[in-house]
Amino acid sequence: FSVVLNYMKTSYILAFDQGTSSSRAILFNSSGQIIGSAQREFKQHFPNSGWVEHNPSDIYNTSLSTALDVIKRNKINPKEINSIGITNQRETTVVWNRHTGFPIYNAIVWQDRRTADICAQLKKQGHAELIHQKTGLVLDAYFSATKIQWLLENVSGALEQAQNGDLLFGTVDTWLVWNLTRGRSFVTDSSNASRTMLYNIHTQQWDEDLCRLFNIPLCMLPEVVPSSGIVGEASSGLFGERIPIAGIAGDQQAATFGNACFKKGEMKNTYGTGCFMMFNTGEQAVQSQHKLLTTVGWSVNNKTNYMLEGSVFMAGALIQWLRDDLKIIKQAPDIEALAKTEKDNGGVYFVPAFTGLGAPYWDPHARGSLFGLNRGTSQGHIARAALEAIALQSYDVYHAMHADTQTKAQTLRVDGGAADNNLLLQWQADILDIAIERPYTLETTALGAAFLAGLATVFFDDVEQLMELNPTKRVFEPDMAATTREGTLERWHEAVKRSRSWVI
Ligand code: ADP
Repeated sequence: FSVVLNYMKTSYILAFDQGTSSSRAILFNSSGQIIGSAQREFKQHFPNSGWVEHNPSDIYNTSLSTALDVIKRNKINPKEINSIGITNQRETTVVWNRHTGFPIYNAIVWQDRRTADICAQLKKQGHAELIHQKTGLVLDAYFSATKIQWLLENVSGALEQAQNGDLLFGTVDTWLVWNLTRGRSFVTDSSNASRTMLYNIHTQQWDEDLCRLFNIPLCMLPEVVPSSGIVGEASSGLFGERIPIAGIAGDQQAATFGNACFKKGEMKNTYGTGCFMMFNTGEQAVQSQHKLLTTVGWSVNNKTNYMLEGSVFMAGALIQWLRDDLKIIKQAPDIEALAKTEKDNGGVYFVPAFTGLGAPYWDPHARGSLFGLNRGTSQGHIARAALEAIALQSYDVYHAMHADTQTKAQTLRVDGGAADNNLLLQWQADILDIAIERPYTLETTALGAAFLAGLATVFFDDVEQLMELNPTKRVFEPDMAATTREGTLERWHEAVKRSRSWVI
């Protein structure tokens, strides 16, 4: 009987999607369909202005408990689970003791700004250019390096312990794998490594110069492994079976993989709280001249795919604001019907710089602004201007990508909650003058992690098969006269200009 079970065909991949506000576990079958999912939010800690922390135990425990939930609720035999894929919030930093497994402090979350002064200092000393060349990143507090430095300097005795080899650093993927394997695997994949600001994306190694600059002992860094490949097994004590961990990628990279943007020139935009655009530049790391990030997308089959990345801070969050604060809609999807009550924006432009502007402006002093209001302005005009603003901000990111790569994308693939909005996607196609492809599964982040795991274990045959698993469901063809597009862009850029340098 046990032999029969050992040869039972595995039917599922378990994806962990460890996000900033919640952890999710999703089971996929061999057709890439979602069989079940579970989600658990966890506490956000804000101990000081601009500080954001998570308890690392919450990160691990909610990940494990959602995985156990989804297996139980769907009555899955753990033997049927082929492998685990992990995708995670990026840059968030955990440091723990290798002997006890206890973190020395809370996880410092990517949003945390406590090391902004360290970054300003390094910039003043002229280190930004070298960091950009080696890591593809702009010198900023988002990335892990200055967060590790802060921990080693501020937790009593930490630097000495780290130098003695007693402490380990990990992004969230590393922390999860280390715990799931009971400390047997201490690894990160190259997409996560590329967000630490310690990883040379060209040589694909931890960079000794950068480690010296931030005073971080090399011995605390995990081994960098491919995004698709077996890195260890989840301990049998957790699921009753040992399950191989076979895929790891940061959330945006996983979403790009799950959205089947495998080739050079392919790109996706995720419409969630913010927008994240990724442009696949193939095996070439393109250094941006337009304030975009260069990052590792994934390393699969001994090949590394690089990406240009740009993000917009307020996208779906703007719709939430209209819902929760202005209360002009009850639910986020209602925005589409409200916008359709007007045939155009009535001359209203909305620059949603509530927390400053992201790529390609990087202006923390800009603030949200509404332009062109008159006595005839209606809620419908504002709703339309809000949806247009999401697309126009994404246009600016794409424009920077185009300038850096000199490549016009054939299509833009989309995902995320707000990619359900037809009016938004039609407007996006019109303003980009590029066809938009909406795939069947908008849940591309977890799917990407499942794809990476399944490729490693031959649960999926190859990339060609993956393309068939998340095909296009609907195409939005551009349908706007060039003069209208140009006129709109001219007004939009004027509005952006006037919203800048508002707070000093
Ligand atoms: P995240 O992963 O960042 O939490 P999701 O991908 O779950 O985001 O998308 C949720 C966001 O999308 C919310 O900000 C919500 O306001 C917005 N949203 C959801 N549905 C729509 C819609 N039909 N039109 C516009 N925005 C929407």
